[in-house]
Amino acid sequence: MPTVVRVLVDLPRHSRLAAGALDYLEPPGAEPAVPLAPGTLVRVPLGRRQVCGLVWPHGEHGERSDGEAPPMDGLKAITEVLSALPPLSTAWLRLVAFAAAYYQRSPGEMALAVLPPELKDIDAAQLERRLRRLHKGLKAAAPEAAVADARPFRPDLSPEQAEVLRQLALGEPVTSLLHGVTGSGKTEIYLREAERVLAQGRQVLVLVPEINLTPQLEARFAQRFGASRLRALHSGLTPAQRLQNWLAVHLGHADLVLGTRLAIFAPLPRLGLIVVDEEHDPSYKQQEGARYSARDLAVYRGRLEGVPVLLGSATPSLETWLNAQPVGESVQGRYRRLAMPSRIGAGALPAVKLLNLAEVVARHGRSVLYEMPIAPPLIERMKQCLARGEQSLVLLNRRGYAPVLHCTSCGWKSQCSQCSAWRVFHKIDRTLRCHHCGSVEPVMRSCPDCGDMDIQPLGRGTERLEEQLGALLPEARMARIDADTTRTRGSLEEQLAQVHDGHVDVLVGTQMVAKGHDFRRITLVIALNADAALFSQDFRAPERLFALLMQAAGRAGRDAEQAAASEMWVQTWHPSHPLYQALQRHDYVAFARSQLEERQIAGLPPYTHLALLRVEARDQASAQAFLQAATELAEGLDGTALSAGELLLYPPVPAQVQRVANVERVQMLLEASSRAVLQRFLSAWLDVLQAQRAALPKVLRWAVDVDPVSI
Ligand code: ADP
Ligand code: ZN
Ligand code: ZN
Repeated sequence: MPTVVRVLVDLPRHSRLAAGALDYLEPPGAEPAVPLAPGTLVRVPLGRRQVCGLVWPHGEHGERSDGEAPPMDGLKAITEVLSALPPLSTAWLRLVAFAAAYYQRSPGEMALAVLPPELKDIDAAQLERRLRRLHKGLKAAAPEAAVADARPFRPDLSPEQAEVLRQLALGEPVTSLLHGVTGSGKTEIYLREAERVLAQGRQVLVLVPEINLTPQLEARFAQRFGASRLRALHSGLTPAQRLQNWLAVHLGHADLVLGTRLAIFAPLPRLGLIVVDEEHDPSYKQQEGARYSARDLAVYRGRLEGVPVLLGSATPSLETWLNAQPVGESVQGRYRRLAMPSRIGAGALPAVKLLNLAEVVARHGRSVLYEMPIAPPLIERMKQCLARGEQSLVLLNRRGYAPVLHCTSCGWKSQCSQCSAWRVFHKIDRTLRCHHCGSVEPVMRSCPDCGDMDIQPLGRGTERLEEQLGALLPEARMARIDADTTRTRGSLEEQLAQVHDGHVDVLVGTQMVAKGHDFRRITLVIALNADAALFSQDFRAPERLFALLMQAAGRAGRDAEQAAASEMWVQTWHPSHPLYQALQRHDYVAFARSQLEERQIAGLPPYTHLALLRVEARDQASAQAFLQAATELAEGLDGTALSAGELLLYPPVPAQVQRVANVERVQMLLEASSRAVLQRFLSAWLDVLQAQRAALPKVLRWAVDVDPVSI
């Protein structure tokens, strides 16, 4: 009798068939004595298509509620088994099962979302060709590996580094927070820990928040351990490269994996260490489809596989910080806290100074703020910096030329016709671009409403800032780095090289340049328009601003000789704001303490746990009606946390950008006293929502976002 095999396919949670797991018969002609191991990849018929599937253990998620043996009649057979690939490990399957349950997805959706895209499209014969190519490549690279064995340079450890490594060597493998200021040598800690783990014959996974930061870190790891032992995994690779790297890792041919959030699902048969660099970065949260936090999954995976996890940051997320409070001081204390408060080489951190805009206006008049991109005293600083032959960095978190165009006679503004947002003026190609729906139109010659020719830009983005600074400092060599100037592959590296090689005097950029790059010659950083985040609706905005400014300050004075003379200036209307006060003292601890107090009083994370139900519809009314009905269903759930007061459902509100590409977006916030309460509730609620979906108001899409990073 043929065996029934449970297979995960990419079906959403609400396909009631089996939560993304379907039953198939073993392929015709299979050896009956060897059942297919869970974790084996197969191709199966689904409707009229052939799709990729993953053999899943019976009885785990998606089991039949009646507990009976599955009936065999009507079952289709597996088309073929990708037998050249060793099955994914039990630990990997458990990671996927956990992520699916926690983020309220079907295991099938989660599993298929995190496998390399190309793997899902190929059959057994194509896979075998890919594997042959991989092995040929590995053989060709073998001589190079021998070269890399020549002793690489390792700096002598600083006392702080030595102490951190000593503590890391103690006790059981746990999650540790490495709280080290920028330039304290956190990367050297990662390298030494990696060295220790590699020496045991095990693999190391290193996560970085952005693709941009991979080349730099890759270079440092390659220099230490040899390029042939290292593989990158991120969405910037071609599908073919990504599959090759994934295969090399899964087959155990690569010892080091360096990647962005998706790499948390890398199959590592000999995993020995997980590093999460810049652990506070919101990019670790996947924002579409199966929304997961790679940082949180790293901690889970570490515990699951019994390997240490190292979370590094100069400004840890408040979630992590609370978890790393010593036991006694609070009930937390789940992570070990390791501190490196000094910069390498006794380099000082740059002085943080606040420029009070009220004083500038009192002295120069209000118009100076419109006429000059930066207040006059700071232009003076830039000139001095230029005269000394040093570099300056001007940070403005808004790309484009001007955020909006307007007509001076009738007040018309460049509203996007499909979104509740302005279209941004990009002067370089004279277009108006919506940063939400991506629509582009050429700038009109005259006002579309009254025909007046006098259409003016309002406000300032990086493109205009660069132009205006260029006019004020004609002898300076300018460069700008933002999403617009780095669209083509390799252009960021090229521009960074220009900065590193000293071909640039003034660098203008968005947050993109504040992160991680090891600039050697920058001695002056100026942050513009920082105040906006102080009064944002999003309760995490101050935390992000603080991290961004600390990181930006960290770009200055990375050479010890220059460090003492380096400065970061923040232009502000609120110089006495506690955030800026803490920033001036480089005092993350004080900032975290005050933020945590506020969060505790307000009942916000990390003291409570949130989820968002996001709905998209053609009109506001249906979206609101859907959420109204969903609320009623929630209230009808018996014995839930709702009645016990452990859970709060907020009324539906329009999303921050309410309409995007003519789709209305409404969301509803859920707040729970614990993760367990939230999990239990969401699971029960989604079940009824799915069961009742025919009766609910028609909407385009809806999804839950567990632990949302922006509200
Ligand atoms: P972080 O990641 O904490 O910002 P890095 O690891 O990039 O800091 O280190 C800052 C600089 O100090 C780097 O150029 C690095 O090579 C150097 N460095 C790190 N550790 C040492 C050491 N023990 N001795 C000398 N230089 C070091
Ligand atoms: Zn007009
Ligand atoms: Zn738009």
